[in-house]
Amino acid sequence: MSTERTFAMIKPDGVRRRLVGELIARIEAKGYDVVALKRMEIPRETAETHYGEHRDKPFFSGLVDFITSGPVVAMVLEGEDAIAGWRTMMGATNPADAAPGTIRGDFATTIDENVAHGSDAPETARREIDLFFPELG
Ligand code: ATP
Ligand code: MG
Repeated sequence: MSTERTFAMIKPDGVRRRLVGELIARIEAKGYDVVALKRMEIPRETAETHYGEHRDKPFFSGLVDFITSGPVVAMVLEGEDAIAGWRTMMGATNPADAAPGTIRGDFATTIDENVAHGSDAPETARREIDLFFPELG
C-alpha cells in the first residue's frame, strides 16, 4: 500500500452530460482527495501528446477530435493505490465490457465516448500530471 497521485479526467461527453458532480462524488466517497482540478479545453497539440502512445492507431485522429470537442475537467487524485483504484472505478475501456457499478459500465455505451480517463501506471501518472498541471511540479 502506498499513497499515490494519479491523473483523472472527465471527458467532453461527461461534461456535456453534466456528470461532473456525480463523478467527483464517487471519487470522494471512495476516499480519494481531489488535490488539483480545472475545467479546460485541451489544445490539440496537448491532446496529441497525451494520447501519443496511440499515434499510429486508426482511431487516433478521431480520438483527438473527440477529446478536444469541448471542455474537460482535469484532476489530480491522491490516495492509497489511487492509480489502479481509479482505473477500477472507471471500468473497462469498452463500456460494453465494463461492469455495472463502474463509471463506464453505468454511464457509457460506446468505446469512443467513455466518459473518463485515468493514468494506467506510475510513470504515466507522472507524465500526465506534468502535462496538465506543470505548476504542481
Ligand atoms: P483512456 O486512456 O482514455 O483512459 P484507456 O486507458 O482505458 O482509456 P486506451 O487503450 O488508452 O484505453 O485508449 C485510449 C482511448 O482510445 C480509449 O478511451 C478509447 O476512447 C479509444 N480507443 C481505444 N481503443 C479503441 C478502438 N479499438 N476503437 C476506437 N477507439 C478506441
Ligand atoms: Mg489509456
